[in-house]
Amino acid sequence: MQDIEILRKSKLSKETIELFEQPSIASQLPIVFNEDGQWDEFSGECNGCHTPIPQEALRGTIDRSWPNVATVTAAGFCRPCLLVTPFKFRVHSDMRMTFPRNGVWHEATARPDGFWQQLLQFLKKAFLKNE
Ligand SMILES: [Zn+2]
Repeated sequence: MQDIEILRKSKLSKETIELFEQPSIASQLPIVFNEDGQWDEFSGECNGCHTPIPQEALRGTIDRSWPNVATVTAAGFCRPCLLVTPFKFRVHSDMRMTFPRNGVWHEATARPDGFWQQLLQFLKKAFLKNE
């Protein structure tokens, strides 16, 4: 059975199912900011078994409505765990990363406690253009 069929039969929210109907995040990379830099690669870990989620199973949207920030909303499906791990963060043209927490966007560099750690693992590498 296809992943999407498994997910449609599960009790996931409509929003999560819609994320899986989007292309993979990998296929939408890199996120390029004019002159300043670009974000090339992301990898996400399953919340259950902490193994990397296959790129094809990590799907969602990259909102480029603003010139200097991109909002990534994604869901990763781990087939062995039958578990969905949600991801939401913003990447900025100055190479900052921010995450929503209690309705406010926080910088990823603040403190690598457990919460940030999990999200930070989603970022694999980022480098400036012309470097
Ligand atoms: Zn897993």
